[in-house]
Amino acid sequence: MALTESVPTAAPPAHEGILRRQSLRESAARTYARSLPIVPVRARGLTIEGADGRRYLDCLSGAGTLALGHNHPVVLEAIRTVLDSGAPLHILDLATPVKDAFITELFATLPEELAEKGRIQFCGPAGTDAVEAAFTLVRTATGREGLMAFSGAYHGMTAQALAASGGARHTDVVRLPYPYDYRCPFGTGGARGAELAARWTRSLLDDPKSGVPDPAGMILEPVQGEGGVIPAPDSWLRRMRELTTERRIPLIVDEVQTGVGRTGAFWAIEHSGIVPDVLVLSKAIGGSLPLAVIVYREELDAWQPGAHAGTFRGNQLAMAAGRATLAYVRENGLDRRAGELGARMLARLTALAAAHDCIGDVRGRGLMLGVEIVDRDAEADATGARPADPRLAAAVQHACLDRGLIVELGGRHSAVVRLLPPLTITDEQADAILDRLADALTAAVRTTPGPMGPSPTTTRGISP
Ligand code: PMP
Repeated sequence: MALTESVPTAAPPAHEGILRRQSLRESAARTYARSLPIVPVRARGLTIEGADGRRYLDCLSGAGTLALGHNHPVVLEAIRTVLDSGAPLHILDLATPVKDAFITELFATLPEELAEKGRIQFCGPAGTDAVEAAFTLVRTATGREGLMAFSGAYHGMTAQALAASGGARHTDVVRLPYPYDYRCPFGTGGARGAELAARWTRSLLDDPKSGVPDPAGMILEPVQGEGGVIPAPDSWLRRMRELTTERRIPLIVDEVQTGVGRTGAFWAIEHSGIVPDVLVLSKAIGGSLPLAVIVYREELDAWQPGAHAGTFRGNQLAMAAGRATLAYVRENGLDRRAGELGARMLARLTALAAAHDCIGDVRGRGLMLGVEIVDRDAEADATGARPADPRLAAAVQHACLDRGLIVELGGRHSAVVRLLPPLTITDEQADAILDRLADALTAAVRTTPGPMGPSPTTTRGISP
């Protein structure tokens, strides 16, 4: 599919009708559909084509799921092979050759300690279900109840996963500070901020009157995704591993979003060299179809048969697509490629930040990149940070869409523009993404008053 956008004519009635019916029939809780009013009908690689004939560069990638982009030939081939073989598509948690091959491929990518002595549990198909499974596992193994999680985290929308996420309203999960350079909770940032965050955690664990009983586990993301693309320093991750090992607290690492090459290593834990007790995996491991698992040390395997059940744990198409994806990323060194290309894109984003005072920070790891949009008129605080500007960020997202670029917003205030392109993009595609983003920034700044100004008059429509 060509990169250049087709010249859109007036949106055909089908397109408008589908969007209208969506807004009438679908729930008020719909999310992406609100900020991205498009009707995808075809997709390949980085490109999505809408029912209105417009083409978009998709840097949302199914919320970071599509490591190989849309409809990659190896994924389609793997799916077709299963379909043509007559294999059952639905098998609960029974053994099959397709599942066996998936596990073999997955284990080949894992750190030795987990690959050799790891166990795998197939979970209900979403990442959040694997998070729930991880919590049940460590609670059973330790006989303890409490959990520790980090500010800004996102682990899913089921009860326990949400309780461990930053957006929780009622939670008994103990919240720890996550190192966030730009908005450092300790006002220092850098290595010092990460060090203080680690000390706070240690003091909670060791102070007998901290009010925090021994936890059953600690859960963290190596790079917070939904929290605003915040990479944890490797040294801090090693500290968390030391603290938890010394106190025999299982460490759960959620690689639902960071896994399968996204951050420039096959698994993000490889950057720091830590090996968790439980690894939570979903999104890209299913090669664009729903699949979620936990892999954990066998010492933790103390739960009873059926302790974490679920009907949809045997999606054969997802396992085949996932195996093909894992193998393709490994064989083609796409993790390394993501690291190199991501570094180049980050350098260009840094230059963009120098030219736009509405960019407070740019950061990321590999092809997980974030641009924090801030109030350009506000004073910086003592650490140099300025207040987030969610309205301008939304205007940037809209302006991107107008220019045929799909980006996601994340972060504490929905003011971080997130780029999660497929690992397969070319250098030219990366440039096209950044050109459109730069142009959208300029346009959004021109048309959007600061947070204290009047409401923006938007003339934007989904068709020009
Ligand atoms: N963990 C992380 C790190 C995630 O980013 C997400 C989803 N964005 C989840 C868990 C939950 O996955 P799902 O939406 O498939 O339940």
